[in-house]
Amino acid sequence: MPVYLDHAATTPMAAEALTVMTRELARTGNPSSLHGAGRRARRAVEDARETLAAAAGAHPSEVIFTSGGTEADNLAVKGLYWARHDENPRRTRILCSAVEHHAVLDTVEWLERHEGAEVVWLPVDENGTVLLEEVERELDKEPESVALVTVMWANNEVGTLQPVEQIVELANRHGIPVHSDAVQAFGSVPLNFRASGLSAMSVSGHKLGGPVGVGALFLGRAVKLTPVQHGGGQERDVRSGTLDTPAIAAFAAAAEAVTSSLEVERERLGSLRDRLISGVRETVPDAVLRGAPSSGRLPGNAHFTFPGCEGDSLLFLLDLAGVESSTGSACTAGVPRPSHVLLAMGLDEATARGAQRFTLGHSSTDADVDALLKALPEACARARQAGMAGHESSIQTAATVARLGSSSH
Ligand code: PLP
Repeated sequence: MPVYLDHAATTPMAAEALTVMTRELARTGNPSSLHGAGRRARRAVEDARETLAAAAGAHPSEVIFTSGGTEADNLAVKGLYWARHDENPRRTRILCSAVEHHAVLDTVEWLERHEGAEVVWLPVDENGTVLLEEVERELDKEPESVALVTVMWANNEVGTLQPVEQIVELANRHGIPVHSDAVQAFGSVPLNFRASGLSAMSVSGHKLGGPVGVGALFLGRAVKLTPVQHGGGQERDVRSGTLDTPAIAAFAAAAEAVTSSLEVERERLGSLRDRLISGVRETVPDAVLRGAPSSGRLPGNAHFTFPGCEGDSLLFLLDLAGVESSTGSACTAGVPRPSHVLLAMGLDEATARGAQRFTLGHSSTDADVDALLKALPEACARARQAGMAGHESSIQTAATVARLGSSSH
């Protein structure tokens, strides 16, 4: 069995979620139908809404089910922008952290290209933390021109937690809504939608043990939001489309399971992650941990740059050795690109290309960390031998490392 160290990409479904999902898949009924089957499905959805709201410190009426984190981010950012801009056409600026996931990043860039928005990129420090003084400066400069602020709760690459509540406090002074992408944070660290003061917060099922293809946007009752898709008027008329009862019920079951054991699991994964970090530093002494120190990052995240290694080469070599990890960032058309997150943290391109992310989750054990530490030195040495395949496509890189890998024994 390969060792899975890519829980930030997706994590195995929780047993509770699988049970609920298979039970619901065997049933029928559209939650909008008025007959018995429909009413039963509606009850399942409303129970799930209550469970999810309780897990995130929200009121059930604040839960808008979506098809995942990407849709929730699009809905929040476009919907807030349109609603605020319609109210006052001077509101064109979007303050957005420079380290957002592409679901937010590409959405604000789309608004810039097509809807007259002006994106203000909020800089981060060397740990990837948004600089509060910059947020304050941009807000104070011309508050009446700001449509919204969007800053993620925790970064998906380097795991850094953001000062979301302080950002909300700054924006609240001017009555400006704040959205946060909490896809990586929900189920990993304690969070409370109400207490945060956020206007909108995105979460996703498959990052915490629910199925892929379901998520939610927590949306304050008084927050005005223009829908992205139109149709049957489900979900407060904000998100039309037939509700996916089995996925929604399973998502809620997973959220309940993770939040009920959150403190214990956070402690367990935090220790495992710290052992992984010190082990990597011992076995590959020039590896550099990226992101915030332990207390300021997700408990399951360890992210390194390995000097002289191409991240993709290292990934393929570790994969050959039975360890599944990630470079942390997407490649574009098969060509690995340095991560925008690492560049925003001040790394140069060559250093950023040596990135490797190891993420732990509910099925992770000490044996997984041992397997990584055993495989890493040789994989690293071979990746260095392959060199920084800067101008190769990732397919050529794969061929190069496969050759190196197969010549090893
Ligand atoms: N936002 C963050 C921070 C993520 O890590 C991800 C998933 O990788 C998403 C959004 C997208 O979520 P989904 O896969 O549910 O569309």
